[in-house]
Amino acid sequence: IQPLLEIKHLKTQFFTSKGIVPGADDVSLTIDKGKIVGVVGESGCGKSVTALSIMQLISEPGKIVGGEILFDGRDLLKSSKQQMYTIRGNEISMIFQEPMTSLNPVYPVGKQVAETLLIHNSHLSKEAAKKAVINMFELVGIPDAKRRFQVYPHQLSGGLRQRIMIAMALICKPKLLIADEPTTALDVTIEAQILQLLKDLQEEIDTSIMIITHNLGVVAEVCDDVYVMYAGKVVEHSDVFELFDHPKHPYTKGLLKSMPRSDVDEQRRKLYSIKGMVPNMLRPPQGCRFHPRCSEAMDICKKTEPTVVTINEQHCVSCWKYNER
Ligand code: SF4
Ligand code: MG
Repeated sequence: IQPLLEIKHLKTQFFTSKGIVPGADDVSLTIDKGKIVGVVGESGCGKSVTALSIMQLISEPGKIVGGEILFDGRDLLKSSKQQMYTIRGNEISMIFQEPMTSLNPVYPVGKQVAETLLIHNSHLSKEAAKKAVINMFELVGIPDAKRRFQVYPHQLSGGLRQRIMIAMALICKPKLLIADEPTTALDVTIEAQILQLLKDLQEEIDTSIMIITHNLGVVAEVCDDVYVMYAGKVVEHSDVFELFDHPKHPYTKGLLKSMPRSDVDEQRRKLYSIKGMVPNMLRPPQGCRFHPRCSEAMDICKKTEPTVVTINEQHCVSCWKYNER
């Protein structure tokens, strides 16, 4: 398997008036061709910052200050603005949590998707673009696709709007789709349908997918590989089965314990939550950033940052517990 995307030691910082916030701090991450990769963690852990860094959509006062982002053999961080413009939406595209904010309320949805296609394929006729959009609407499960081409965003349900966004993201057949909390705004039934759709589409158009979520249920549903992030860093990486069966990092274990489960009687089971709070990233804790919340913290954890330990070929963790000293 060849990697499609390889992020190496990415550092993205925010230069605020109060100081420097390390949004993504030495993040390394690989997405192989044909895989669905989950990036999971609480809000503010750096998952969206990592995604926006790939797209080079980090805005002031943020800045990518180090690392490499290799996509299909090219370093995106060395690409020009013009090159990024042709990559975004065409080779890499992104969908967000709330489709309403990304759709233009005064244009019919079909026209908006057709425009995305035409921007990157100027040789296409309007008629051909319309046909391609209607085909894509059918592919993403929008019923009555021909009529739906003409409707406005507010005339659609939240689930259908997200399908429109997926159609827009996929209309140029990107090699990589980044989905940032794609189902967070949807109810559980619709969420399950959208996740199934992403899984089907991955196979159908052979797009690799990066799913950003705070919800391990979403990861369990669709992902092949998982990266767990905490306070700007990747703390654990594994294939999905190993992560759920043999989690190593105390933070991952906490996330798993706090995951609502349909097979356990909610009445009898008190929902666990990880004690303490996400750290203030202006002054992140010394040593292991998770140590103030970790019930297994040792002296060294408070002073020295843990190094990455390889458990096996598919499984790495940054935690002193697994370091032989
Ligand atoms: Fe806990 Fe120490 Fe491991 Fe950090 S390095 S997760 S504080 S045991
Ligand atoms: Mg986010």
